[in-house]
This record gives sequence, C-alpha cells and structure tokens, in this order.
Amino acid sequence: MALRLPTATIRTQVSVPLRFADGYSAAARVFSFDGLVDGQEHLAFGLGDRAAVVSARGREPAPLVRPHSECLTGDVFGSQRCDCGAQLREAVERIADSGGFLLYLRQEGRGIGLYAKLDAYALQEAGLDTYEANLALGHREDERSYLVAAQMLLALGVSRVALLSNNPDKAHQLRRFGVTVAARVATAVHLSTANARYLATKAGIGAHTLDVPLSAG
Ligand SMILES: [Zn+2]
Repeated sequence: MALRLPTATIRTQVSVPLRFADGYSAAARVFSFDGLVDGQEHLAFGLGDRAAVVSARGREPAPLVRPHSECLTGDVFGSQRCDCGAQLREAVERIADSGGFLLYLRQEGRGIGLYAKLDAYALQEAGLDTYEANLALGHREDERSYLVAAQMLLALGVSRVALLSNNPDKAHQLRRFGVTVAARVATAVHLSTANARYLATKAGIGAHTLDVPLSAG
C-alpha cells in the first residue's frame, strides 16, 4: 500500500535550452518545487513534448522518467570513476526523444555528500570497493531516498511513469510512494559521450557491416 506523501507544488517553471559538450542540444522546461520534504533544491527537466508549460492535461502515455542523482565530478567534469556523466547525457536524449522528465536529485555520492564521496574514493584507492568504502565511513551502502522524486512527479501531475533505470530500488521506492511504474526501460551500460556517436553510427550502418561477412562468407 502506497504511503501518503506530503504534497509538493511547482514553484517556478522556466525554459532552458541545453547544449552538451558533444554538441547535442535539447529544449528543456526546468521546474523548481515548494514542499519537498528534505528541503533540498531538486530540479525536474521536462524534455520532448514535456518541455512545454505544464497545465491541466488529459490521460496520456506514461512519460519516460529518470531520477538522476547529482554527481558533481561525473556530471560536470566528466570523471571516469563513474558513468554518471554518460548516463545523464544518454538520459536527456532518450527522454527528449520520447517525452518525459529527468529528475535531478541533489543527493551526491549515493546520498553521503561530496566530501564523503571523495573520502570513499580515497578508501577505494586503498583497495575497498565502493560499497565497502561507504560502510567504512559509517554510511549505509546507498542512502538515497526517492520520496522527493515521487513528490516532484505528483506535483507535475504524473502518477504513471516509464522508468529509465537499471536500479530496481528506484522502481520499488517509487511504487511505495504511490507512483505507478508502468514500464522499466534499461539504460545503456558504460556508454560515454566519447563513444555515443560511435555506437549510434555503428547501429545506423549495422546492416551494411553485417552484410560484408555474410556475402563474403
Ligand atoms: Zn558519478
């Protein structure tokens, strides 16, 4: 049974044209909120057909939604210690293509904070894995809550989503907080901005390259 959430409301919405380092661009509608339970400044990015002003809408297909946890080093600086920057870039394009929302959640380092994340990196250099390092620092393996994500979606009038995520905990928590996960859509693994174009090109000409060994075979 879903928990009853404190109601959040849209505080502001504003258009922001996005352009990424590889030249990809997309129109976004950026939303801020009042009433989020943790008091953090989380954002929602409406993309594709959801880049328009939110108003009363009828029943529509479930929008593609990705909750993305902030990762300063990966999102902004392209850190190769994680795939957050590549995941973010992929998510924006896929959501822009099908219509939906990217929820940018200010829960750095699986919720432990930026400095603690760097401390955990230092422990990883000493041989611990990422989860062991968090535990060694007195944190749980993953401290992220998606309660605010559910609050944001409900404020946006979205109670059914197609969830762009490989993390079963996100689906589990969203359901618990009253959001229907109508479908789960996997993200690519280890896709990076450096290889995105390469992979897209390869897929685009895949039939041709396959023809070569077959006809030669
Ligand atoms: Zn990261």
